[in-house]
Amino acid sequence: MVYLKCAGCGFEKIVSFLTLGDIPPVNAFILPAEIAQEVKYPLNLAYCPQCFLVQLEEIVPPETLFRQYLHLSAGSQQNISHLKEVAAHLAKKHAISGEKRVLEIGSNDGTLLSFFKQYTLNILGVDPAKNLISLNKEKGVPYIPEFFNTSTASQIVKERGKFDFIIGLNVIPHTPDNIDLLKGARILMNDKCLLIMEGVYALETILRGEFDTIYHEHVYTFSLHSLIALFRMAGMKVIDVERIATQGGSLRICAMKEEYASEVSSRVLSLLEEEKKIGFDKPETYLLVEKKVAEFKIHLRNLINEEKKRGGKLIGLGAPARGVVILNYCQIGKEDIAFIVDDTSLKQGRVTPGVHIPVQSFESIGSNTEKRTFLLLSWNYKEDYLRRLKEKYASFRMIVPFPKLEVIEHG
Ligand SMILES: [Zn+2]
Repeated sequence: MVYLKCAGCGFEKIVSFLTLGDIPPVNAFILPAEIAQEVKYPLNLAYCPQCFLVQLEEIVPPETLFRQYLHLSAGSQQNISHLKEVAAHLAKKHAISGEKRVLEIGSNDGTLLSFFKQYTLNILGVDPAKNLISLNKEKGVPYIPEFFNTSTASQIVKERGKFDFIIGLNVIPHTPDNIDLLKGARILMNDKCLLIMEGVYALETILRGEFDTIYHEHVYTFSLHSLIALFRMAGMKVIDVERIATQGGSLRICAMKEEYASEVSSRVLSLLEEEKKIGFDKPETYLLVEKKVAEFKIHLRNLINEEKKRGGKLIGLGAPARGVVILNYCQIGKEDIAFIVDDTSLKQGRVTPGVHIPVQSFESIGSNTEKRTFLLLSWNYKEDYLRRLKEKYASFRMIVPFPKLEVIEHG
């Protein structure tokens, strides 16, 4: 068992409970020529028996993960529509218009902010990815290519003043030093500023044995309990929470400066109750996870072997980060999957990290007459892929890994 210090509360004996092995960073899709230089890092989870923050035992330097970022907000139609809805929802709920100033942390290719432009032109994006500068320019979104922290925030407040809304989608689970991130946000907040943060809410799914949200970029897996403690350390109060469907289940937290915070919504209290019911504060709950994950691997490998006997190598659908975790942990490689199709053009022509399966465009699969079996890696886009496959194939089979491992047969 490995003991390290808790990044949330400093407790010195966090407990290792899940070993996924050595895996390369899941967004590091490489060219075939770069395979020899690929670097892997241990991917193991521990929990803190004092504050119950779930955390990686070893952190990959953020410079390695986020300077060249191949995951684009505009990478799928579904995500573009989601971001459009987020902008419309927030603009309506919080009356964002005219002079209101909106900052997005981790703004990626500027898709979300571009939707805010119909409500206010006072927008700014901050994101460390240097390869996304031109995509932001094309959308007319002001962009600072830096990590967001107290030092970046101090620079911004000098040059541009404070903001009315600060938004960060999936930033908190990705940031090693969240207290500094939130203190940075605080520097840029007006007294009435709302800080809206979305993040994958994976504690319950991980405890169920759905391990594919675990990767090096997700340093932390939060509960609402541990989030409230974290925001408090940065002088902020969580006043509302919504559960949303994004990425297989996420939380949208709304916080304010503690001294100006309005009343806490009843949704916060009822989610805290729910967390107690799933046993997030009991060691037994964690100790069961490794067994569940190992059983999943055996089951999936058996299904793939059966399908290979039936009709040859499978075709992968989607190459998301979570899919890369499934492939690596279950040791599914080129001998199992002929190629993977994905709509993100930056991933096409490259190979998946670790197991090196080629990635191609969806169009490249043609309309084969043989009955093929697909492995759905983007399982949160199941309906989307089913619809697209039905347009091309009269019959096919599809393995769906989560939320329940199953094979769907069409025709
Ligand atoms: Zn702790």
